[in-house]
Amino acid sequence: METEIGGIPLTIEKKKIKNIYLKVLSPNGKVVISAPKRMSLKAIEEFVISKQDWILDKRKRYENQPIQEALQYETGEKIMFFGREYSLEVQEYGGCKKIALAEDKIQMYIKEGCTREQRKQYLNEWYRKQLKLRIPELIEKWEPVMKVQVKEWNVKNMKTRWGTCNIAAHRIWLNLQLAKSKPECLEYVVVHEMTHLLERNHNERFYGYMDLFLPEWRKLRKELNEKN
Ligand SMILES: [Zn+2]
Repeated sequence: METEIGGIPLTIEKKKIKNIYLKVLSPNGKVVISAPKRMSLKAIEEFVISKQDWILDKRKRYENQPIQEALQYETGEKIMFFGREYSLEVQEYGGCKKIALAEDKIQMYIKEGCTREQRKQYLNEWYRKQLKLRIPELIEKWEPVMKVQVKEWNVKNMKTRWGTCNIAAHRIWLNLQLAKSKPECLEYVVVHEMTHLLERNHNERFYGYMDLFLPEWRKLRKELNEKN
């Protein structure tokens, strides 16, 4: 429910919770109240008015801040998943945590009072699971084409690289962040790392293989590096 209390526009969400919570979302300063189902509007009003100075102060601080890229993992934020933008919807509830993918939403069901760090960690866990569902079929698709064998693979959160290849162990690691990019970019990184099983260095021979396997690889690499 959208309303205004003491000149502050806000959203009230009635939930099956025991206490009232207030959030001022970054970067737009939107105010969201989560209130127990039975709490009266008057009680909510009193609560908001008691917090008025704090809300105004927080909103002012967001106004003066450059738009932050850092996600707060709150309802309404934009989340990337395999190259598409989804709107995050966080639902606090008592059951087991889960993430569901709807048409244009990523719905995160978590325990009441989870911190930003916990939400972030949970989304990353989900990203990892989604990547792990896609990677085996890519490896299986390319092994016979490239005539190489991947003995081991894993997903790691890496700061500076999209993937790595341990040639001796026939092992490839893929960056967790690839779950945000479109599937073609994930495939490009898988093919790139697998190509190292044919050629260690980034030399003419290496790029010759890439041109042969994935003629579009330069475009995909550019896309990957521009968006992230
Ligand atoms: Zn490489």
